[in-house]
Formats: sequence, C-alpha cells, structure tokens
Amino acid sequence: MKKHIVLAAAVITMLAGGIMKGGETAYAAGNGPNYQGHETVNTSILHTYEEMTNFLKKQEAKQPSMELEVFGETVKGRDMHLVKYMSDPDNPTILYIAQQHGDEALTTEGSLDFIKQLGTGKTRGLLDDVNLLFIPMYNADGAMGDVNFELEDYAASGDRHLTRMNADGVDLNRDHEARSQPETQAFHDNVLSTYDINYMIDLHHQGSQWEKDGKYVSGAILYPHPDHTEDETLYESKQLGGIVYEAIEPKGWGHLGKYAGGGTAYDQGIGVYGIANTYGISTLLFEMRGTADNANDDEVLGQKSNGYLTKQTVETLSATSRAVADGTIEGQDISFGEDLPVQTEREE
Ligand SMILES: [Zn+2]
Repeated sequence: MKKHIVLAAAVITMLAGGIMKGGETAYAAGNGPNYQGHETVNTSILHTYEEMTNFLKKQEAKQPSMELEVFGETVKGRDMHLVKYMSDPDNPTILYIAQQHGDEALTTEGSLDFIKQLGTGKTRGLLDDVNLLFIPMYNADGAMGDVNFELEDYAASGDRHLTRMNADGVDLNRDHEARSQPETQAFHDNVLSTYDINYMIDLHHQGSQWEKDGKYVSGAILYPHPDHTEDETLYESKQLGGIVYEAIEPKGWGHLGKYAGGGTAYDQGIGVYGIANTYGISTLLFEMRGTADNANDDEVLGQKSNGYLTKQTVETLSATSRAVADGTIEGQDISFGEDLPVQTEREE
C-alpha cells in the first residue's frame, strides 16, 4: 500500500519535472494551453483524499516537528486535516488554506510538496522562528466529486470529477458569515478561534482567460477590503502581498495581476475579507490560473501548465514563511498594491 503511494507520488513528481524540463519557455505564463474542449485534463494525476491522508500520516511519522490534527468533518464524513508546525508559541503564525473550492487542486499539490520540503535540509532553521499551519484540502468532498448533485458536462477525464461546491452544493468561500456548513463551522471554531494566527493566505484557482498587459496572468492577488479592515491588519496584508509579488513576478512563468472579482461591495462571506475583519488576521487571496475541472471550458486549463502552477504555490509558501521567520516582512514596501493593474478578461 505504502509502496503504491510512494510510486504514485514519484510518477507525479516525474510528470511535473518532465514538463518543466522539456517545456522551458513553452510553459511560461500566457503560453500554457487552454483546455477549450480539446486538451487532455486527467484528474487521476492529482492526489485523491485518501492518497493525501496517507501522505500526511507518513510525513508526520517522519518529521518530528510536524503534527497532524483532525479539526472537523466534511458533510460526507471525511476528516478535515490541519498540518501543524508549532515550534514556539511566541513565534508569528501563518495559516495556508487550499482547495476551499474542490476543483482548484494545484494549490493542494504545491502545499504537499512544500510540507515534504519542511522535512528536509532544504528548509533548515526556518521552523525555529515561525509557526506554520496548513489546511491542504479544505473541501475534500468537492475534490473527490462526492456530492449530492449531478456533475454533468464536466471537462476532465480520470476516475473522478472535481467540483467547486461542497457536497450540499454550498460555496464554502461564501459561507464565512452564515457558517451554515460543517466545514466552515469546524474551521472557525477549531482553527481560527483556537490558534493565534497573524497571517493567512487563501489559495485558489480562477478561470484561464484573465490577462494583464495583453498576456495571460499566472495568478492574481487581493488583500482585504480597505473600508472594513483595521489599518494595521490591512497594511500587513499588503506587505504579505508584496512578498508574494516580489517572489513570483520575476520568474519566467510569473505574471501577476490584481484580482478583479468580489466587486467593490463588502462581503463578509468571503474568507479574505471576513477573516481579516473578524479576527484581525492579515489575509491574502491568491488565485492561480485555471481550474482542474469544470462544466465551463473557459475555467479549465490544460494540464501541461501543472508544473509551473504547482511551483508557483511552493514559491509562495516558501517566500512568505521565510519573510515572516526572518522578519523581513516588517520592512516590506507596499507600493506594489497601488501600482498593480487589475487583470482583465480576454474576449475570444
Ligand atoms: Zn476558488
């Protein structure tokens, strides 16, 4: 069983590595193939919930500084996992959440890659000065396509579909005020209210058609609502965004815009706004390009882009955890926030 999982992980790594190695500039931002009804998108290369759980249990056994906590249950009874690195209660703490929307999967792949790195010499010393929390697969029922509604006309092949909503068809990132779902209740009661968290990055994917300066973006960022966030929390959210921007934009594949969604109205239901407001946590929304599955072809991105998008997550987690650990975030310039153009949607 274990051997099978190791092999599956190795194949995924090889696939991602092979794509990056062979791709060179072919997979830079803007050049990743759109799905458009003809690219192959196969969900079987993504971690299933079971594979992720086995991976995390194995890492917990291997990594002395890691602890795996079950903080709740999904509608369908899947355990919700919180990965904890809490070396010192006085350290600043960052929370990373991935896959609130079940069809936004590469942020989970990148989170698992980074969790694996935390058990190696590559990140030596990092955990002495920062506490890290991860929820790698927030909406496990949606990620497994195990839902109480039909998934018709979805694009991906493979042994399962992935869908945005939870099992009862609720958008979990619009449920942070109503808290009608067991996933949201567990998150607020057992994570947000339990741990002293300074920063949070909410990792998502968006449609594949967004561009900046005539070129498809690799992602888009958004900080909390200026009218509903304490000045210091907002400022530190922008600093977090600055760290991400400076880590990603110089990469050959990196091209970031400001997120256009959410409108101008304040919406407590959206995590990045409500959590900054309610808990005073500095938050950042980061939307990567393209989803893994959807009924709308414009949302889906061909899987040849998986390598750089997974890497984008790893770079984001690595740069932000380092900047908080060594304190450089405290001197981070925020002018990028005023200057960063809002992405626009390309008309086909
Ligand atoms: Zn999303």
